[in-house]
Amino acid sequence: MVSFGATKYVKMEILKSSEALIEWRNQWSSATIGFVPTMGAFHLGHLSLMLKSKKDNDKTLASIFVNPTQFNDPKDFIHYPNTIEADIKMLYDLGVDAVFIPEVQDMYPEISIEHFHVPLLTESLEAKMRPGHFDGVITIIRKLFDLARATKVYLGEKDFQQLSIISAWVKKENRSEIIIPCPTHREESGLAMSSRNQRLNAEQLEQAALLYQILNTVKENKFNNTPVEWELWGRSQFAQTPHFRLDYFEIIDAETFGPVADWSDSDQPIAVVAAFLGEVRLIDNMRL
Ligand code: AMP
Repeated sequence: MVSFGATKYVKMEILKSSEALIEWRNQWSSATIGFVPTMGAFHLGHLSLMLKSKKDNDKTLASIFVNPTQFNDPKDFIHYPNTIEADIKMLYDLGVDAVFIPEVQDMYPEISIEHFHVPLLTESLEAKMRPGHFDGVITIIRKLFDLARATKVYLGEKDFQQLSIISAWVKKENRSEIIIPCPTHREESGLAMSSRNQRLNAEQLEQAALLYQILNTVKENKFNNTPVEWELWGRSQFAQTPHFRLDYFEIIDAETFGPVADWSDSDQPIAVVAAFLGEVRLIDNMRL
């Protein structure tokens, strides 16, 4: 239940334009600001980032913007869930200080896309399967970061490649934001929480746990096989399950994104997976 008035929280600012955000930010020029950029349709994963930010900072700012330039598939953009009223209520109940909800026109008075390239990191996996996706991500992240001027930015490990690319970009640009990686929140079945899960029916929600089950099997039995054998095993599991169309299942080094042929090749191997279940594309990963 929303508790309006002064009993619970003083107020949450709803900032609908860049100007409003700049003004809000200027009010808190000497405060530490935690920033949580999102595309809305909140689940507990999003909320865990907000809570962490609230703990660490004087003020917490969230943004909700479904960024058109990062959708390589127009159907995915059209069907992206929109639960804005419920999202605002959740932020209010959590005691988030402000939420930035800009219009597309405000973020993109003209469309000029930034290109950021790091060998392997911006070439492999999601970058390969979703051409242009990370250029769209970096384009919007620069705009949001420049407006928010945050002390710390909270990003989920669920989108591991995105987290790595934004961290690399912050480093390369010598920016002051500290990136805080946050662990993946999962359903009881192990399924990684995702806004796109709202598009799955009850049966698909059960089937979707396969991604976690495969990742977890590799983690628990890691040394029974080589990474390459595990990759073949993982791919064969998807091949035997007709509802899925696998994009990739790989074991890579979490720093370089290079292949891991043998366990001795990497001191931080991570298994990464992306697969379509019906029309919905799911991604997940697990450090091994
Ligand atoms: P999105 O709205 O999907 O762009 O996600 C906003 C932020 O929440 C990103 O930093 C995501 O990595 C993070 N996130 C998404 N799903 C989860 C999850 N299940 N657990 C933790 N963080 C998540």
